[in-house]
Amino acid sequence: MWTHTKESRDRITPHQALTYLKEGNARFVNNLRISRDLLKQMNQTSTGQYPFATVLSCMDSRTSAELIFDQGLGDILSIRIAGNVVNNDVLGCMEYACDVVQTKIIVVLGHTQCGAISSACSDYKSGHFSSITRKIKPSIEEGPITPELLDRVCINHIHHSVRLIRSRSTLLRSLEKEGRILLVGALYSVETGTVIFL
Ligand SMILES: [Zn+2]
Repeated sequence: MWTHTKESRDRITPHQALTYLKEGNARFVNNLRISRDLLKQMNQTSTGQYPFATVLSCMDSRTSAELIFDQGLGDILSIRIAGNVVNNDVLGCMEYACDVVQTKIIVVLGHTQCGAISSACSDYKSGHFSSITRKIKPSIEEGPITPELLDRVCINHIHHSVRLIRSRSTLLRSLEKEGRILLVGALYSVETGTVIFL
C-alpha cells in the first residue's frame, strides 16, 4: 500500500474517502489487513502529510482509527477524546483538518460499551470528567440502564455531535454544502470490529 502524495490525495473525492474507510474496516474485520512497511511510510511522510480523513473517536483503547480502518501513517488525522465529545478545541482541529490539511471526510465515531456514555447515564461526576459527561447529557434517555439503552444513547450522541459540528462551524458547514467534505456519524462495535455508518 502506497503512502499518499499531495496529487493522489487531492484526487480523492469525499465519497471515495468514505469508501476507503469502509473497505479498510472490512479488511480489519476479515483479518486481511494490508502489510505496511511503517518505517518506509515514516520516511515517505517525513517531508509532509496528505491524510484523506479526519476521525473524531473516543480515547477508548479499542477504538484506534488507524487500526480499525486499516490505514497507515499519514492517512488519518485522529482526534481522540473520551465520549468523542465536541468542544471548541475539537472544532478547531476539524476546521484545520479540512481547511488547511484538506482532508475529505469527517467521521464522528462512537462505539459500543463506551465508558463515557455509561458514566453520563449513571450520573458519574468526578473532577474534570464531568465536563465530558455534561456534553453527553442531551442524548440521554430515561429508563433502566441496559446495554440496549446505552447503545441508543451512544447513537443519539453521535447524531447530536454531527448536528453540533454543523451548527457551530460556519466553515465546515459551507465546505459540506459545497460538496468538498462529507460529515458522517458512525458506530464501532467493540464486540465485532464492525463500523456501521449512520
Ligand atoms: Zn468510549
